[in-house]
Amino acid sequence: MSLNIEELARANVRALTPYQSARRLGGNGDVWLNANEFPLPVPFELSQQTLNRYPECQPKIVIERYAAYAGLTPEQVLVSRGADEGIELLMRAFCEPGKDAILFCPPTYGMYSVSAETIGIEYRTVAALDDWQLNLPAIADQLDGVKVVYMCSPNNPTGNLINPDDIRKLLDMTAGKALLVADEAYIEFCPEATLASWLQEYPHLVILRTLSKAFALAGLRCGFTLANKPVIDLLMKVIAPYPLATPVADVAGQALSEQGIALMRQHVAELNANRAWLFEQLPQISVVQQVFPSETNYILARFTDSPKVFKTLWDQGIILRDQNKNPGLAGCLRISIGTREECERLIAALQALSVEQA
Ligand SMILES: *Cc1c(COP(=O)(O)O)cnc(C)c1O
Repeated sequence: MSLNIEELARANVRALTPYQSARRLGGNGDVWLNANEFPLPVPFELSQQTLNRYPECQPKIVIERYAAYAGLTPEQVLVSRGADEGIELLMRAFCEPGKDAILFCPPTYGMYSVSAETIGIEYRTVAALDDWQLNLPAIADQLDGVKVVYMCSPNNPTGNLINPDDIRKLLDMTAGKALLVADEAYIEFCPEATLASWLQEYPHLVILRTLSKAFALAGLRCGFTLANKPVIDLLMKVIAPYPLATPVADVAGQALSEQGIALMRQHVAELNANRAWLFEQLPQISVVQQVFPSETNYILARFTDSPKVFKTLWDQGIILRDQNKNPGLAGCLRISIGTREECERLIAALQALSVEQA
């Protein structure tokens, strides 16, 4: 009798399509504009020589520094293996598999559905409106049995902020029934839009943050969940005993020092300048149909023949993120903001393509 390993697995895992991360999709580029990473490494050195010991579960310095940076108290901060782990911890702490549901509004970040599928939690989707704002009446209709609503602002991959008035309405709608999780992975590019100060008003508001984007530390795997103490206490019950390796906490502490934060702000200013330059250049290119506004370190654009544009640039080592299959995003590619040289190479390649098509 042959043992079919596949059949031993949980049904939802058998049915699962793993998250198509930029790293999994591969490519042989030298201009990586597909994962919203910072284009250059930041120089940090390890200062801890205590790898014989287990790390602190919630390293004190990291928590205190992040709380100060976010304008909150340490008890409102949880640190984890990237914001992705925060997304999952919330489901594990608040959703009963086979009973409760989560809800989110596509097109948006792909991990909400992937985590729900792995854990075996139903997910409901309410498509965003044409301007990518929330469809509040449709959300209200779908809220029965929903325990967690994920809302990404600014949204990945569209780049827009969600209207604060709508967020208030959504918070009122979910009060006493569900958590509202605001994914602020890109908030450093529009810091005035953060909902952090709203935590004092809303016990069911949760905010996700990360060091992967503006802090230039995607390889570190370090993210934060901001919420009031009752939520944090529940997440502390389900988090792994040692979620952060000692070197991770070491570097995160440095990144959140005064100098680390100043460096991040300087990087954000550079990327914002490059983004402004791309906003001047892209609309002048004939294969570019539409350029969407962005509050982030990426730009979503619609192209006349996006598969051809994607492939031609790919073959030249310029790797973009294809959004063609995402609901409402036919013909769209997402472009991370790189160094000025990388932006120039991108524009030159697109210009060459346009000349060829003309
Ligand atoms: C990149 C990203 C994350 C994941 O951040 P990590 O800290 O790297 O896990 C979460 N949400 C959104 C919207 C992202 O774009």
